[in-house]
Amino acid sequence: MIPHTATPLQTTPVQTISWQDELARAISDPRKLFALLELDTATLASVLPAHKDFKLKVPHPYLKKIRRGDINDPLLRQVLPIGNELAEMPGYHTDPLAESMANPMPGLIHKYHGRVLLVVSPACAIHCRYCFRRHFPYQNNNPGRQQWQRPLDYIAMNPSINEVIFSGGDPLAANDQHLRWLTEQIASIAHVKRLRVHTRLPVVIPSRITADCVKWLTETRLQSIVVLHINHPNELGNDVQEAVARLKSAGIDVLNQTVLLNGVNARADTLISLSEKLYETGILPYYLHVLDAVQGAEHFAVKDEKVKELQQQMLARLPGYLVPRIVIEKPGAASKLPV
Ligand code: SF4
Repeated sequence: MIPHTATPLQTTPVQTISWQDELARAISDPRKLFALLELDTATLASVLPAHKDFKLKVPHPYLKKIRRGDINDPLLRQVLPIGNELAEMPGYHTDPLAESMANPMPGLIHKYHGRVLLVVSPACAIHCRYCFRRHFPYQNNNPGRQQWQRPLDYIAMNPSINEVIFSGGDPLAANDQHLRWLTEQIASIAHVKRLRVHTRLPVVIPSRITADCVKWLTETRLQSIVVLHINHPNELGNDVQEAVARLKSAGIDVLNQTVLLNGVNARADTLISLSEKLYETGILPYYLHVLDAVQGAEHFAVKDEKVKELQQQMLARLPGYLVPRIVIEKPGAASKLPV
């Protein structure tokens, strides 16, 4: 039996690190990553050239969820540069969705009827190796405060646009003051009804969901929707669940999109467990994206037959509302296409 003691436990105060500091201390040196994760350094030689092409970036809260010594860990595979990325594969492109054709001015992408996407920040908290924007010309799409007027005028002059999507990079890499200002500008355009925020930041640095962040999302007449990007159930730790709870308790709808990735989540058990865990956290599984054919990511591709097989298994084992829509994006199409 554990004896009862009247003396209170001596605890050291918990050190909280701001999200900006977490962002600044993200691991960007492959050698350091290998040391922290106790990985066999024999693989480092194939990591370094790919890292030069698209830098490694992993923040600590995400790093903590990666198993030590396991080069095949599903979270590690998403962030670890590998030699295969440098092979030029037929059918894979630097701009797989032809977004340059839908980018009429810096900071704005208009692909679909009724909604536009703003490139709010060129930065991300993590570098996902399969990212369809890994070659995106952010240097041409990084408006300062003055230059935002053009995209805002574009939205104001297009009454069909009723939804604005904050994208990037990761829009939550911008500070809350800027995001509040941009939200207010958009809310002043009468025909815009909804604000959607596409972000992976609360998944990789959950402390990003600050009180200020919740405020600008809720102190607006716009309906705010946060769409997270979670690919594997191991990404959903208590810290992420608490961040989502902060959004949910403020009345914000939270959805998720996943990218189907060979070697990461392309198994029925994993996808089913992800859907279950998302729902337990208060997140609705929204989309499961077939990989966009971006140069450097071919090793993540899942064959069509396998995609259909996974879909069948999910339909057979989950209630309909937990089966995300499996979609593929094609350049120039009027919407995402169901598989
Ligand atoms: S966070 Fe999103 S935009 Fe950034 S690298 Fe990952 S997938 Fe791409």
